Amino acid sequence: MIGNLLIISSPSGGGKGTLIREVLQTTPDITFSVSYTTREMRKGEMDGREYFFVDVPKFKELIAAGEFLEYAEVHRNFYGTSLSQVKKLTESGKDVLLEVDVQGAKNLLAKVPDAVSIFILPPSFATLETRLRLRATESSGDLQVRLRNSFNEVLDYEKFRFVIVNDDLETAVEELRNIIKAERHRTNRQDAVIQGILDGFDAAMHRFEKEPN
Ligand code: 5GP
Repeated sequence: MIGNLLIISSPSGGGKGTLIREVLQTTPDITFSVSYTTREMRKGEMDGREYFFVDVPKFKELIAAGEFLEYAEVHRNFYGTSLSQVKKLTESGKDVLLEVDVQGAKNLLAKVPDAVSIFILPPSFATLETRLRLRATESSGDLQVRLRNSFNEVLDYEKFRFVIVNDDLETAVEELRNIIKAERHRTNRQDAVIQGILDGFDAAMHRFEKEPN
Protein backbone atom coordinates (compact mmCIF):
# COMPACT_ATOMS: atom_id res chain seq x y z
CA MET A 1 0.00 0.00 0.00
CA ILE A 2 1.42 3.37 -1.04
CA GLY A 3 0.47 6.39 1.10
CA ASN A 4 -1.31 9.46 -0.26
CA LEU A 5 0.64 12.56 -1.12
CA LEU A 6 -0.98 15.66 0.41
CA ILE A 7 0.14 19.01 -0.93
CA ILE A 8 -0.52 21.95 1.35
CA SER A 9 -0.01 25.57 0.30
CA SER A 10 -0.88 28.98 1.62
CA PRO A 11 0.55 32.46 1.60
CA SER A 12 3.21 33.07 4.22
CA GLY A 13 1.35 33.78 7.48
CA GLY A 14 -1.64 31.68 6.44
CA GLY A 15 -1.10 29.61 9.56
CA LYS A 16 -0.28 26.33 7.83
CA GLY A 17 2.73 25.60 10.06
CA THR A 18 0.69 25.36 13.26
CA LEU A 19 -2.12 23.55 11.45
CA ILE A 20 0.24 20.92 10.05
CA ARG A 21 1.94 20.40 13.42
CA GLU A 22 -1.43 19.81 15.11
CA VAL A 23 -2.61 17.37 12.45
CA LEU A 24 0.66 15.43 12.53
CA GLN A 25 0.34 15.01 16.28
CA THR A 26 -3.27 13.87 16.25
CA THR A 27 -3.67 11.79 13.08
CA PRO A 28 -2.37 8.23 12.78
CA ASP A 29 -0.31 7.04 9.79
CA ILE A 30 0.72 10.43 8.59
CA THR A 31 4.13 11.99 8.27
CA PHE A 32 5.85 15.08 6.92
CA SER A 33 8.51 15.31 4.26
CA VAL A 34 11.25 17.75 5.32
CA SER A 35 12.30 20.03 2.46
CA TYR A 36 15.66 21.58 1.68
CA THR A 37 16.05 25.35 1.83
CA THR A 38 18.72 28.00 1.38
CA ARG A 39 17.00 30.46 3.70
CA GLU A 40 18.51 31.24 7.08
CA MET A 41 17.48 29.16 10.05
CA ARG A 42 15.05 31.01 12.35
CA LYS A 43 15.32 31.02 16.11
CA GLY A 44 13.79 27.82 17.46
CA GLU A 45 14.24 25.88 14.20
CA MET A 46 16.40 22.78 13.95
CA ASP A 47 18.29 21.42 10.95
CA GLY A 48 16.51 18.28 9.74
CA ARG A 49 13.26 19.11 11.56
CA GLU A 50 11.70 22.18 9.84
CA TYR A 51 14.11 21.98 6.88
CA PHE A 52 17.48 20.72 5.83
CA PHE A 53 19.33 24.05 5.73
CA VAL A 54 21.92 24.20 2.94
CA ASP A 55 23.82 26.93 1.09
CA VAL A 56 23.19 27.82 -2.55
CA PRO A 57 26.12 25.77 -4.01
CA LYS A 58 24.92 22.68 -2.11
CA PHE A 59 21.35 23.28 -3.30
CA LYS A 60 22.61 23.46 -6.90
CA GLU A 61 24.52 20.21 -6.38
CA LEU A 62 21.30 18.57 -5.20
CA ILE A 63 19.45 19.86 -8.29
CA ALA A 64 22.16 18.38 -10.52
CA ALA A 65 22.00 15.07 -8.65
CA GLY A 66 18.24 14.85 -9.34
CA GLU A 67 17.41 14.95 -5.63
CA PHE A 68 14.32 17.16 -6.05
CA LEU A 69 10.81 16.11 -6.94
CA GLU A 70 10.30 19.86 -7.41
CA TYR A 71 12.07 23.02 -6.35
CA ALA A 72 11.31 26.72 -6.58
CA GLU A 73 12.61 30.13 -5.64
CA VAL A 74 10.24 31.58 -3.06
CA HIS A 75 10.61 34.98 -1.36
CA ARG A 76 14.23 35.20 -2.61
CA ASN A 77 15.30 31.76 -1.30
CA PHE A 78 15.35 28.27 -2.78
CA TYR A 79 13.15 25.46 -1.47
CA GLY A 80 12.99 21.87 -2.73
CA THR A 81 11.09 18.65 -2.02
CA SER A 82 13.29 15.60 -1.58
CA LEU A 83 12.41 12.87 -4.05
CA SER A 84 14.17 10.10 -2.12
CA GLN A 85 12.40 11.06 1.11
CA VAL A 86 8.93 11.21 -0.46
CA LYS A 87 9.51 7.85 -2.11
CA LYS A 88 10.68 6.20 1.11
CA LEU A 89 7.84 7.66 3.19
CA THR A 90 4.98 6.90 0.79
CA GLU A 91 6.31 3.38 0.26
CA SER A 92 6.15 2.84 4.02
CA GLY A 93 2.37 3.14 3.54
CA LYS A 94 2.00 6.42 5.41
CA ASP A 95 0.32 9.50 4.01
CA VAL A 96 2.89 12.21 3.40
CA LEU A 97 2.27 15.93 3.91
CA LEU A 98 4.20 18.33 1.73
CA GLU A 99 4.24 22.01 2.54
CA VAL A 100 5.12 23.91 -0.61
CA ASP A 101 4.42 27.25 -2.26
CA VAL A 102 1.89 27.49 -5.10
CA GLN A 103 4.53 27.02 -7.84
CA GLY A 104 5.70 23.88 -6.06
CA ALA A 105 2.11 22.64 -5.82
CA LYS A 106 1.61 23.18 -9.56
CA ASN A 107 4.81 21.31 -10.42
CA LEU A 108 3.98 18.46 -8.04
CA LEU A 109 0.46 18.07 -9.45
CA ALA A 110 1.91 17.84 -12.98
CA LYS A 111 4.14 14.97 -11.82
CA VAL A 112 1.76 13.29 -9.37
CA PRO A 113 -1.79 14.05 -10.62
CA ASP A 114 -3.28 11.77 -7.97
CA ALA A 115 -1.88 13.91 -5.13
CA VAL A 116 -4.39 15.67 -2.89
CA SER A 117 -4.02 19.44 -3.02
CA ILE A 118 -5.23 21.66 -0.19
CA PHE A 119 -5.07 25.44 -0.04
CA ILE A 120 -5.08 27.15 3.35
CA LEU A 121 -6.65 30.58 3.06
CA PRO A 122 -6.33 33.13 5.87
CA PRO A 123 -9.71 34.69 6.70
CA SER A 124 -8.53 38.16 5.65
CA PHE A 125 -5.48 40.15 4.62
CA ALA A 126 -5.54 41.88 8.00
CA THR A 127 -5.27 38.52 9.80
CA LEU A 128 -2.41 37.45 7.59
CA GLU A 129 -0.55 40.70 8.22
CA THR A 130 -1.11 40.49 11.99
CA ARG A 131 0.08 36.87 12.10
CA LEU A 132 3.23 37.68 10.18
CA ARG A 133 4.00 40.72 12.31
CA LEU A 134 3.37 38.85 15.57
CA ARG A 135 5.57 35.98 14.40
CA ALA A 136 8.36 38.52 13.98
CA THR A 137 10.64 36.06 12.21
CA GLU A 138 11.39 38.22 9.16
CA SER A 139 13.31 41.43 8.68
CA SER A 140 11.02 44.29 7.64
CA GLY A 141 12.20 43.93 4.01
CA ASP A 142 11.38 40.21 3.96
CA LEU A 143 8.04 40.88 5.62
CA GLN A 144 7.15 43.36 2.86
CA VAL A 145 8.11 40.77 0.19
CA ARG A 146 5.89 38.16 1.83
CA LEU A 147 2.93 40.54 2.18
CA ARG A 148 3.28 41.73 -1.41
CA ASN A 149 3.53 38.13 -2.72
CA SER A 150 0.35 37.17 -0.85
CA PHE A 151 -1.82 39.21 -3.26
CA ASN A 152 -0.98 36.87 -6.13
CA GLU A 153 -0.74 33.73 -4.00
CA VAL A 154 -4.36 33.87 -2.79
CA LEU A 155 -5.56 34.04 -6.41
CA ASP A 156 -4.15 30.56 -7.01
CA TYR A 157 -6.71 28.89 -4.73
CA GLU A 158 -8.58 27.57 -7.80
CA LYS A 159 -5.75 25.19 -8.66
CA PHE A 160 -6.39 23.20 -5.48
CA ARG A 161 -8.93 20.46 -4.86
CA PHE A 162 -9.75 21.68 -1.34
CA VAL A 163 -9.74 25.05 0.41
CA ILE A 164 -9.67 25.45 4.18
CA VAL A 165 -10.29 28.91 5.63
CA ASN A 166 -7.96 29.07 8.59
CA ASP A 167 -9.90 31.27 10.98
CA ASP A 168 -10.29 29.09 14.06
CA LEU A 169 -7.34 26.68 14.46
CA GLU A 170 -9.32 23.85 16.03
CA THR A 171 -11.92 23.92 13.24
CA ALA A 172 -9.23 24.05 10.56
CA VAL A 173 -7.41 21.06 12.13
CA GLU A 174 -10.63 19.06 12.14
CA GLU A 175 -11.34 19.98 8.50
CA LEU A 176 -7.86 18.97 7.39
CA ARG A 177 -8.10 15.70 9.30
CA ASN A 178 -11.46 14.99 7.67
CA ILE A 179 -10.04 15.53 4.20
CA ILE A 180 -7.12 13.19 4.95
CA LYS A 181 -9.51 10.52 6.21
CA ALA A 182 -11.93 10.90 3.30
CA GLU A 183 -9.12 10.61 0.77
CA ARG A 184 -8.12 7.27 2.29
CA HIS A 185 -11.57 6.01 1.30
CA ARG A 186 -11.32 6.88 -2.37
CA THR A 187 -12.25 3.80 -4.41
CA ASN A 188 -8.87 3.48 -6.13
CA ARG A 189 -7.04 3.80 -2.80
CA GLN A 190 -8.70 0.63 -1.54
CA ASP A 191 -8.10 -1.74 -4.45
CA ALA A 192 -6.24 -4.36 -2.41
CA VAL A 193 -8.77 -4.47 0.44
CA ILE A 194 -11.73 -4.52 -1.94
CA GLN A 195 -10.16 -7.28 -4.03
CA GLY A 196 -9.73 -9.44 -0.92
CA ILE A 197 -13.41 -9.01 -0.06
CA LEU A 198 -14.55 -9.68 -3.62
CA ASP A 199 -12.42 -12.84 -3.77
CA GLY A 200 -14.33 -14.02 -0.69
CA PHE A 201 -17.66 -13.32 -2.43
CA ASP A 202 -16.45 -15.17 -5.49
CA ALA A 203 -15.51 -18.25 -3.45
CA ALA A 204 -18.90 -18.15 -1.68
CA MET A 205 -20.73 -17.87 -5.00
CA HIS A 206 -19.00 -21.01 -6.26
CA ARG A 207 -19.96 -22.87 -3.08
CA PHE A 208 -23.54 -21.71 -3.52
CA GLU A 209 -23.69 -22.86 -7.11
CA LYS A 210 -22.55 -26.36 -6.16
CA GLU A 211 -25.09 -26.73 -3.35
CA PRO A 212 -28.56 -28.05 -4.15
CA ASN A 213 -31.33 -25.44 -3.70
P1 5GP B 1 9.14 29.63 5.10
O1 5GP B 1 10.40 30.36 4.75
O2 5GP B 1 8.12 30.57 5.69
O3 5GP B 1 9.38 28.40 5.92
O4 5GP B 1 8.49 29.12 3.72
C1 5GP B 1 8.31 30.01 2.67
C2 5GP B 1 7.50 29.34 1.57
O5 5GP B 1 8.23 28.27 1.00
C3 5GP B 1 6.19 28.76 2.05
O6 5GP B 1 5.17 29.13 1.12
C4 5GP B 1 6.43 27.27 2.00
O7 5GP B 1 5.24 26.56 1.76
C5 5GP B 1 7.37 27.16 0.84
N1 5GP B 1 8.11 25.90 0.81
C6 5GP B 1 8.60 25.19 1.86
N2 5GP B 1 9.18 24.05 1.43
C7 5GP B 1 9.06 24.04 0.08
C8 5GP B 1 9.45 23.11 -0.94
O8 5GP B 1 10.04 22.07 -0.71
N3 5GP B 1 9.14 23.46 -2.21
C9 5GP B 1 8.49 24.62 -2.54
N4 5GP B 1 8.21 24.84 -3.83
N5 5GP B 1 8.10 25.49 -1.60
C10 5GP B 1 8.39 25.22 -0.32
